[in-house]
Amino acid sequence: MVESHIKHETVDIGGLAERVASGGRLTFDEGLALYASSDIHTLGAFANTARERLHGRRAYFNVNRHVNYSNFCVLRCKFCSFYMPFDKSSEKAGRLSAGVDLPVAESAGEGAFPSRRGYEMTVEEVVARAVEAYADGATEIHIVGGLHPTLPFSYYTDMCRGIREACPKIHIKAFTAIELIHFTRIAKPRMTIAEVLTALRDAGLGSLPGGGAEIFDDRVHDETFKNKVGEAEWFEVHRTAHELGIFTNATMLYGHIESTAERLRHLIKLREHQDESLATRKAHFNCLIPLSFIPDGSELSHLPGPTGLSDLKTLAITRLMVDNIAHVKAFWIMQTPKLAQVSLNWGVDDIDGTVVYYDITKREGGGGTTHQEMGVEALSRLIREAGCEPVERDTLYRRVVRENGGWRTEENTGL
Ligand code: SF4
Repeated sequence: MVESHIKHETVDIGGLAERVASGGRLTFDEGLALYASSDIHTLGAFANTARERLHGRRAYFNVNRHVNYSNFCVLRCKFCSFYMPFDKSSEKAGRLSAGVDLPVAESAGEGAFPSRRGYEMTVEEVVARAVEAYADGATEIHIVGGLHPTLPFSYYTDMCRGIREACPKIHIKAFTAIELIHFTRIAKPRMTIAEVLTALRDAGLGSLPGGGAEIFDDRVHDETFKNKVGEAEWFEVHRTAHELGIFTNATMLYGHIESTAERLRHLIKLREHQDESLATRKAHFNCLIPLSFIPDGSELSHLPGPTGLSDLKTLAITRLMVDNIAHVKAFWIMQTPKLAQVSLNWGVDDIDGTVVYYDITKREGGGGTTHQEMGVEALSRLIREAGCEPVERDTLYRRVVRENGGWRTEENTGL
């Protein structure tokens, strides 16, 4: 792991104050200087200036529900602690209900992954989760999973259609770029990215999450997720979505084997893509989510993972480098609620949502459950104590108004 910024080198970043104050764009070398500087207070103040220029003291959250429909995956990314290999015995043992407490699958891979359970949910189970979330006031259902080898493309369109019919107002944010590329290959006959996106949108899909980006760098790709499609395909999916008018998010998985220079190049590639989407396409990135790597349970479990200061610096530098994506989110599942709260004064304006169930990563072992929930009161308390105004938003960052036992979004408050 290359962490050049923890050497406490004395790098003067005070000279950037005027440009930060005026909203000027920072260069790659200036990003390196921000990482190398030990003047963390100035860095935090810079990021807060950029954040307040865009959002004042508002801090966003949403009422949502995550659904991870299956952890069976044809790939084995080294940083992933979620996937289960799929083989013939998985086909029988893996078809298990994914309730609040998942039963342990007796799949062939269990011995190699003692703490994991292979599962997949039926379409009806996913829809039931959405119905439950909708009844609880969720405005968004966030759906991602592994690259399942045998489920047909109709499973995904049926899932969206079923949710749309049962929960007409809920926003379906689903499927990373990697899953969508997988769908183009499993569809019979094979489909283009545009055809897959159009079919899913016709079935109810609202927008795309930003997962699967990892770090846009050939070295990091070859060492940690060699068999997964790389940056060209990730950007192709998001470019196509933006051309079709489908909004998306973007991510960066940091704190494993990448250098700070590789993080900065990743951020600049997203910034360049956003410039093009804002200028020429119908949609763009809504939010950038730097995801703090959690080593536990992955093939990279020998790595220490990011420190708190590394988290904060990366969130702040993300806000400063990527001036054209409106929102920077600290996902409390990854950065922890306490650090997500602190980051609200370090460039971050969003701490995601109520989540409820999340199976991709679990901090501190997770106690064998996928239940990871934070209520609106708890989210609001974190935000208020950080000196910010809690604003419930929908997926497209429109203010949500709760009244008469229901909810509506305010127009002209989005994005
Ligand atoms: S990161 Fe995604 S594609 Fe890679 S192994 Fe995990 S579930 Fe599969």
